[in-house]
Amino acid sequence: MEISQESATLPDSVKKLRACKICRLVKSASQFQGQGCDNCKIGKQTFEFKKFTTPKFSGMISLMDPTFSFAARYNKLNLIPGVYAIEVEGVQEEEIYQE
Ligand SMILES: [Zn+2]
Repeated sequence: MEISQESATLPDSVKKLRACKICRLVKSASQFQGQGCDNCKIGKQTFEFKKFTTPKFSGMISLMDPTFSFAARYNKLNLIPGVYAIEVEGVQEEEIYQE
């Protein structure tokens, strides 16, 4: 079996970690600011990453298998392996998904 998906950047610091409100990917604030979210392709701009990520989350899991059941709940997104928050505070998916 070949894993063709690239891996998300893992958090490089335990300080100032933030979680993407859409897919719950966890990275440091500076990573989001420089790279955006690996899944959602947003957040590179400062105003974007503050809107689409939050420091208020609890629990982290390392998602290395994209078919893991956690990911299946969000299968409308093509999650790449990385570290994900279990609970994200203040998620308003309806609002975020509105175009
Ligand atoms: Zn995301």
